[in-house]
Amino acid sequence: MLKTTVAGLALLVAGRVIRPLASQAATTDRIVRTDEEWKALLTPDQYEILRKEGTEQPFSSALLHEERAGIFACAGCALPLFSSKTKFDSGTGWPSFWAPLDQAVITKVDTSLGMSRTAVMCRRCEGHLGHVFNDGPKPTGLRYCMNGLALKFSPGVA
Ligand SMILES: [Zn+2]
Repeated sequence: MLKTTVAGLALLVAGRVIRPLASQAATTDRIVRTDEEWKALLTPDQYEILRKEGTEQPFSSALLHEERAGIFACAGCALPLFSSKTKFDSGTGWPSFWAPLDQAVITKVDTSLGMSRTAVMCRRCEGHLGHVFNDGPKPTGLRYCMNGLALKFSPGVA
C-alpha cells in the first residue's frame, strides 16, 4: 500500500516537471553559441556590442540616415527586430525606433555606469542591441536607442 502511494507521488512530481519543459521546448527557438563561435561570426565591433554590451560611437552608424522602407534584423542571428515604419530621428546619434516588431526583443535592468537603464536584447540570440527610454514619440512614448552595428538592414516591405 505504501509502495503504491510513493509510486503515485513520484509520477505526479515527474508530471509537474515534464509539462513546463515540454511547453517551453515548443515555443522557443533560442540560438546559443559559444564565445568562440560568436567571434568567428561577427566583426570585432559587432562582437563587442552584441556579446559584451558595448556601445558604438554616436553618429557613427550608416543606418542613422537609412530612410528606405525595410526591416532591421539582428546582426547576430538575422531575426527581424524593427520596421522602418517605427524609425525616427531622435537626434541622439543612434538609430532610434518607437516600437520593436512583435516578439522580437527582450529587456533587462542594466545598472552599469551608475545608472538604472533598461537594456534591450534580441529575443532569439540574446545579443545586446541597446537601451529603451521613456522619452520617445507617440504612439508608444518609447525610444529604442539601438547600436547600428547590432542591426542589419534589408530594404523592401516594411
Ligand atoms: Zn539575434
